[in-house]
Amino acid sequence: MSRLIGIDLGTTNSCVAVMEGSEPVIIPNETGGRTTPSVVAFTKDGQRLVGQAAKRQAVTNPDRTISSIKREMGSDYRINIDGKRYSPQEISAMILQKLKEDAENYLGEPVTDAVITVPAYFTDSQRQATKDAGTIAGLNVQRIINEPTAAALAYGVDKEQSQKVMVYDLGGGTFDVSILEISNGVIEVLATAGNNRLGGDDFDTALTEYLAGEFRRDTGLDIHRDNAAYYRLREAAEKAKVELSGMLETQVNLPFLMSDKKGPRHLEATVTRAKFEQLTAHLVEATMGPVRQALADANLQPSGIAKTLLVGGSSRIPAVQNTIRKFMGKEPFKGINPDECVAMGASLQAGVLAGTVTGLLLIDVTPLSLGIETVGGVFSKIIDRNTTLPIKRSEIYTTAANFQTSVEVKVFQGERYMTSGNRLLGNFRLNGIRPALRGVPQIEVTFEIDTNGIVHVSARDLATGRQQEITITASSNLSQAEIDRAIRDAQQYSEEDKRRRAEADAQHEVDSLIYRAAAVSKKCTREDRKRLDEACSQLKKAVKSKDTSRIIAEEEELRRMLDTLDPAGNSGQGTF
Ligand code: AMP
Repeated sequence: MSRLIGIDLGTTNSCVAVMEGSEPVIIPNETGGRTTPSVVAFTKDGQRLVGQAAKRQAVTNPDRTISSIKREMGSDYRINIDGKRYSPQEISAMILQKLKEDAENYLGEPVTDAVITVPAYFTDSQRQATKDAGTIAGLNVQRIINEPTAAALAYGVDKEQSQKVMVYDLGGGTFDVSILEISNGVIEVLATAGNNRLGGDDFDTALTEYLAGEFRRDTGLDIHRDNAAYYRLREAAEKAKVELSGMLETQVNLPFLMSDKKGPRHLEATVTRAKFEQLTAHLVEATMGPVRQALADANLQPSGIAKTLLVGGSSRIPAVQNTIRKFMGKEPFKGINPDECVAMGASLQAGVLAGTVTGLLLIDVTPLSLGIETVGGVFSKIIDRNTTLPIKRSEIYTTAANFQTSVEVKVFQGERYMTSGNRLLGNFRLNGIRPALRGVPQIEVTFEIDTNGIVHVSARDLATGRQQEITITASSNLSQAEIDRAIRDAQQYSEEDKRRRAEADAQHEVDSLIYRAAAVSKKCTREDRKRLDEACSQLKKAVKSKDTSRIIAEEEELRRMLDTLDPAGNSGQGTF
């Protein structure tokens, strides 16, 4: 097994960490950033960009730039680019592939194994989709862990005295709150709640819409009609939001935002923190419902929580911190960088799996109840919400009709009494039940959830021993064949990428030789200059012919000539 990395695959930003000795260390990307935007773009000339490069060009290429794909994980959403349909798993895999490459460059060795985090509230199909994304990216996903659990590990609360802590995680696109119990190095998740469609993006939208309204009032122009202008405004709104976490007032200046008959129109606005708080108060309040729910599920009052850990970039918003302080009656805990702590915790968990970190055990819980449909569409729970994982539980069911020889087992996830209000995860049929009067056959249904939160269900007729089982992969998830195809595509892209890079390097080599020849020819005799010109023109012809061996031979010839005429000019070092 290679070095195990910990990955926080975030909605807006992703982050990767590795254990260096006993400390988790954040791996910087190729531009030195400690987090990488979870953005993928397809340029018009067929290139694929991931991270900062993709985010930077979003303004000019909005239709072919994909962000916040995490929100679609586990759904049947597809993105159509140049006639090819991409699943959320494949797009996420492109992000993971980039993080993997960054880690390989940093560590100087191949990376094949990872721990990836997901929001605690992710359903089974979303977890499975995340695991599939890892597989497509060429990673063995050793464990999927909940983000708040990872954060708690990073905060080191596992080493403190027994206590209950709350992890409040408001990221770019998801919100999670979890109540954890920590005792003797064991972290147990008592309750989780959240909203996987609430985050910093919504704060950006609120401010963008306010500024769009102001612009419309001043100019009569609708920013929504112009994609590029809208993206510029959104970017500026996010920047203003971040600034308002540190300042009481900020300026938004966007010259030449749009134009009309009167010419170019500019946006100039001042936004105060008070105005921002007024525009986003409903979003801050929306996080408090899940907070109350998690406390109620854990049977706790706010006073029973020793610490509230803040996680996610949006937890830096002062109104968020004030609201938590008021509700919990204590100052929230902000020891470490909220953007990085989840990846750090994931790498600590990776350390546990690799055996380099000891004395730590994680216990996770199911986020929603699981069960099957019984007669009349009634949901029969087999595993309750917030049950500790891993778990295996069986129930005995029987037939509803006389001489019924088969049953349909429909697996649901949710909290509603009727299955129609819950989510169907999958179904299968158990045939060959020994014919008998209704109520006589005994059918044992077993649910097993592993430490990754992935569900296996089986049904067995106790009279005949016949058994059927499934591992739940909801219908919106990818089949094995689709995953295999996506893996091949990803590998092919990575090879194509290498080929492109090799071509670019070769072209660079030719360019630098010709450039060097031009410099040398200025200071040599007329005869030598003629020889150099001839060698350059032969090399250019070779490049046009695309004949690799001819190119190499002509390069060699020119290089030899230059080394004789100008030995000092050959530094032997690569150039930028
Ligand atoms: P994360 O998903 O944890 O990386 O969080 C990203 C979100 O946090 C984005 O919506 C950012 O705009 C937001 N964010 C980052 N820093 C700040 C800040 N200082 N104040 C407010 N929001 C922030």
